[in-house]
Amino acid sequence: MVALANDASTEIERRVRAFCSDLNNRIPLLTVPPGTPDLRVIRCRIAPFNAGSAVRTPRQQAEFVSSNRSWVCWGAHMSDRARHVRLTSHGRYVADPRALFGAHFPLFTRLWGNLMRLHGLRNFRSGHGWGEGDGYHLELPGARIGRSDVRAQACLEEYVRITRLEGRPRNQRFERSYRDALAPHLERVLPAQRMTPNPPPVSGPGQRLL
Ligand SMILES: [Zn+2]
Repeated sequence: MVALANDASTEIERRVRAFCSDLNNRIPLLTVPPGTPDLRVIRCRIAPFNAGSAVRTPRQQAEFVSSNRSWVCWGAHMSDRARHVRLTSHGRYVADPRALFGAHFPLFTRLWGNLMRLHGLRNFRSGHGWGEGDGYHLELPGARIGRSDVRAQACLEEYVRITRLEGRPRNQRFERSYRDALAPHLERVLPAQRMTPNPPPVSGPGQRLL
């Protein structure tokens, strides 16, 4: 069991499950006027494996970036040290806890942040407390892989491949932010004549790119 307990994926799962368990016990104790919202039906649980919660291969991470669901090639999912949770209310997914809790949202985020601290969890920015923008992402401290890590480099390469050769959408914000990191991969993947940042649209019938 010692080996298992030291395994990163086991550790993040253990902490996130304990976090949700505590949250489920404590949410009903928040002091809000009765029924606004009904705290007894709010549940936290770890997100399903196939919802992007667990470990991602470089190819999968590149697909997340391409579809605007991630903004880095070096996130904590690549090292299997991050999980997503989800809140439900009456069994239905809560996409926006701020809307659910309304004026009591700060009360909720204070509890959320305290429990993150208690269980040694960080938000998607590797910081403390509710991570506005990707609140359901929880990770271990120091979970990020380096940009020079072989997995991050493989993700950059896959990103270039799927967006330049396979017709997947480009993540403009990602490309602006990490132009330098992408440059060597663009050079390697693309033939010299197609090395423009935004190749002009193909005109005329019969012509096609790869
Ligand atoms: Zn995430």
